[in-house]
Amino acid sequence: MITRFLLGALLALADDPVNNQLAQDIYKQLIEINTTDSAGNTTVAARAMADRLKAAGFPDSDVQVIGPNPRKENLVARYRGTGQRKPLLLVAHLDVVEAARQDWSVDPFKFLEREGYFWGRGTTDDKAMAAVWIASFVRLRQEGYVPDRDLIIALTADEESGDYNGVQWLLANHRDLIDAEYALNEGGESQMRDGKYVLNGLQLSEKVYQSFRLEVRSAGGHSSRPVQENAIYHLAEGLARLSKFQFLARMNEGTMEYYKRMSSLTDGPAAADMRAVSKSPPDRAAVNRLSKSPRDNALLRTTCVATRLEAGHADNALPQMARAVVNCRILPGESPAEVRSTLIRVVADSKISVTAIEDAVASAPSPLNPEVMGAFERATALMWPGVPVIPVMSTGATDGLYLRNAGIPTYGVSGFFESVDDTRAHGRDERLGVKQFYEGREFLYRLVKALSS
Ligand SMILES: [Zn+2]
Repeated sequence: MITRFLLGALLALADDPVNNQLAQDIYKQLIEINTTDSAGNTTVAARAMADRLKAAGFPDSDVQVIGPNPRKENLVARYRGTGQRKPLLLVAHLDVVEAARQDWSVDPFKFLEREGYFWGRGTTDDKAMAAVWIASFVRLRQEGYVPDRDLIIALTADEESGDYNGVQWLLANHRDLIDAEYALNEGGESQMRDGKYVLNGLQLSEKVYQSFRLEVRSAGGHSSRPVQENAIYHLAEGLARLSKFQFLARMNEGTMEYYKRMSSLTDGPAAADMRAVSKSPPDRAAVNRLSKSPRDNALLRTTCVATRLEAGHADNALPQMARAVVNCRILPGESPAEVRSTLIRVVADSKISVTAIEDAVASAPSPLNPEVMGAFERATALMWPGVPVIPVMSTGATDGLYLRNAGIPTYGVSGFFESVDDTRAHGRDERLGVKQFYEGREFLYRLVKALSS
């Protein structure tokens, strides 16, 4: 009886028609405002959310829509607390990846509920989270909740692409408006496999994206009279040396904890290897065995891989130029300059120039904050008993890196469980389970409350 009662109480958490409807209405509104870089407008979405907060009783002075471009404005809203502690920042991006109607089986900018899913561009990335932050503010205010710190929402532009990244702009121009002890952002991984919830990941860090151009020039000439000096051979031999090279495996606090926890969820010899790499220093043989998996390899070390190649100008001419792009994903805490020096050493040919293609933004890992970890674990246990919490490092990137660099530790969270074999963010027919949206709504609401009382 007791078990049944408890089960009923747990199921009831997400079974809250009033709050589900509120969150869903906001979600629908956001999905139906096109916020792509090409034709969309984040200002319209930011204003719509500002109107909702003002209607819920937030004073105009605490709700601002600001930005450097009339089509790319951001929303910043503050929920006043007692000020006992530094604020908590809640971030989500308003912009979405392009979506062409002819590529989709449904209209990407029409919110649709079908087959147990909510469909539309941004349903997972990142409008579920944006909607839930707004819905949580409205709900907390209706409840008369007074947090022990200010809560700040920042819904921002140009995370995916475009020239007006909202997080960067706010940090540079209105740091005071978003300054916080730490932030919650996208980037967490709530994973489902065959309909079963397998883990709730808390993201502490991200790898850094940096591409390098490797280039060789030579004199060229007629291909009927080859000479020793050949740009293609220089580059090919340098790339062959790079293909045999591996960066040193390096663990950080988050990846050590990741392997420690994953070892108890894994069977067979891999479990022992995960335990062995979660020690300092990590066991070399275990690192080598784990590195055979591309995912583990990417978690254990910086990687650099040739992704493009281009050379020569005619079938019957000696090449005057050979060029490759090498794309690196750098572990947080390692510097792009260091990686460049390593590439120069490894290709070992002074004829091959190595140039960074873009300015990489380094990103230090967020500390394993016991308050955040504890609240995240408790909220997970309450919503989804038995689902393990795992700290994760993303091998891709979010706006969290700018916040971390600015000294605001950032934790990637989700709570919207998605099947790992069917992730559609950035792709066609993006959708999120109706049940998973409602659960995520309750989870994030509870998390925010736990971290502010
Ligand atoms: Zn995103």
